Amino acid sequence: MRQEAIRLLQSGKTVVLVPTMGYLHEGHLALMREGQKHGDALIVSIFVNPKQFGPAEDLQRYPRDLDRDMTLAESVGVDVVFAPEARAMYEEGFQTHVDLELLPRHLCGPSRPNHFRGVATVVAKLFNIMRPQVAIFGEKDYQQLAIIRCMVRDLSFGTRIIGVPTVREPDGLAMSTRNTYLSEDERRSALSLSESLQQAQKAVAEGISDSADLTRSTSGLIGSYPHTRIDYVALCDPDTLEEVDRVDGPTLMALAVRVGGTRLIDNAILKPIED
Ligand code: AMP
Repeated sequence: MRQEAIRLLQSGKTVVLVPTMGYLHEGHLALMREGQKHGDALIVSIFVNPKQFGPAEDLQRYPRDLDRDMTLAESVGVDVVFAPEARAMYEEGFQTHVDLELLPRHLCGPSRPNHFRGVATVVAKLFNIMRPQVAIFGEKDYQQLAIIRCMVRDLSFGTRIIGVPTVREPDGLAMSTRNTYLSEDERRSALSLSESLQQAQKAVAEGISDSADLTRSTSGLIGSYPHTRIDYVALCDPDTLEEVDRVDGPTLMALAVRVGGTRLIDNAILKPIED
């Protein structure tokens, strides 16, 4: 892969990377289409990264279908698919990781220890292998995007990071590979995430700005659906991810909810009315 990437670079191409864990859906394809606009060699990586899964998480059952992914990638004009084996990425004796100090303390960090360390490490490896000028990530994984931006800045990767808005099902559910785990009943309850974000946006637009009030009504709505268990409902600064007491500027509302056995996340930037 490195040789192919050097060849692309030497032939004057702008290399764009879209990192994924595969089992592609329209959200991933939106990233690829965005990638097309920013360069002329589009690489997609497909790697279910063991380092970002906790011991009790779904690494083994995470869906995989490389043939289907290859067909979908080809249909949107991807030039190269990089799908390494775990043992090629993490050889015996592997011991170097990328750890961020502050951003992983918030939101998903506490309930997924070492998750963001696994993410930052694999993305650093992918960037070193392919040296992309541009890389595309989804805003659906807002904290991940913030962490990658910070890592790229701190470690001078020089890669331009572009975020793509969350692609949703017609009823509002954020697309996710993990939606395939949901039963019919759970699928209905999964709508509580996008609905409560919409409700919160409406409340903020009507002038409600107290974080405690907003999180209370959001948790109430989510809790009114069967099969839901809230991991967090947070209102935070969109850059530092630190929690805020009031919504008096653009504010990130981030949610993590277990629906049956499936942990789902979603987020929105809430914007108060302009003065
Ligand atoms: P994953 O395969 O879940 O690791 O996701 C790979 C990339 O696709 C990440 O940058 C995700 O943020 C992005 N992504 C996943 N779902 C969506 C979605 N519904 N809309 C936009 N981007 C997404």
